[in-house]
Amino acid sequence: MRIVSPISAGPSSQAKILDGKTVRDQIKSEIRPRVERLRSHAGRAPGLAVVLVGNDPASESYVRSKTLTAAELGIHSEQITRPAEITTEALLAIVQELNGREEIDAILVQLPLPAHIDTQRVLGAVLPEKDVDGFHPFNVGLLTMGRPGLKPCTPAGVIRMLKHYGIAMAGKHAVVAGRSDIVGKPMSLLLLQENATVTICHSKTPDLAAVCRTADILVAAIGRPALLNANHIRPGAVVVDVGVNRIDSRTEAERIFSPERLAVFDKNGSLLVGDVNPVDMARLASAYTPVPGGVGPLTIAMLMSNTIEAAERRTGVA
Ligand code: NAD
Repeated sequence: MRIVSPISAGPSSQAKILDGKTVRDQIKSEIRPRVERLRSHAGRAPGLAVVLVGNDPASESYVRSKTLTAAELGIHSEQITRPAEITTEALLAIVQELNGREEIDAILVQLPLPAHIDTQRVLGAVLPEKDVDGFHPFNVGLLTMGRPGLKPCTPAGVIRMLKHYGIAMAGKHAVVAGRSDIVGKPMSLLLLQENATVTICHSKTPDLAAVCRTADILVAAIGRPALLNANHIRPGAVVVDVGVNRIDSRTEAERIFSPERLAVFDKNGSLLVGDVNPVDMARLASAYTPVPGGVGPLTIAMLMSNTIEAAERRTGVA
């Protein structure tokens, strides 16, 4: 992997922006020759199936982006869309059918599923070798043991980003705020695998700010707009903001944004913000991921990377 611009450990007057689009483009450029190799050696493109239940606009938009990126990279993709009323049994039957198809290497069930669906049963039904999101208990087990396997895309993208920018993790204190199965927990395990000393915080942590202030690397994956601020960031820390929250109240926007961004808010009527106050983050961190344009672009790129990895393992072409 190419390492560029090593980040110094101490505070800097000019924070380095960790740009997700640059890393995304590099991941894509690495995928293209692998797709070609697979085509020539296995006689087919890697295959990704995306299962979408219901018509949640955010999920529809994510799935659209995934399908477009797959097409751009020469990955075969299929979308299976079913109404929100589908039963768990009927969804399981779809997963089983996809499990049995030779040309499908990767299966993604778009979350969240409607409340009446048994999500854990559905995720557990995906063949581990095709579990491109890394949510199957078998892959979670491999991740916990530090063994090779398909890893959840967003945290894997964060590690990729930190490596790209030459940010040392070994021996550093990493604090992960958030303990979800999708981001917080796998993020902590991946940082541990990189030999960071890891602390996980969550909604029951009594003094979140005090713990966050001890971080060399602070990862925010909470889902609360700009919850973390100057009280949570040690000067010189590297801050990774995974959160994506839409702000449409001007009072809230005034609390969070710089005058320039406030002008953009006034023009658009809403703006995206992460879990970290962007002004405080830019002022105090030595390096940080902006929202948007930081972690966001990496998730789909890592999904494609996982798809090709699954295809290579299944076909024996590497
Ligand atoms: P989640 O709701 O499943 O989990 C949130 C976690 O935050 C929980 O573990 C909870 O304990 C913790 N938490 C809640 N309130 C807290 C508080 N006051 N103090 C400390 N911890 C608190 O969310 P998630 O799926 O992990 O997503 C987190 C954020 O990351 C969301 O904003 C989501 O949109 C975003 N996200 C972004 C990407 C991406 O590609 N950029 C991908 C996945 C998720």
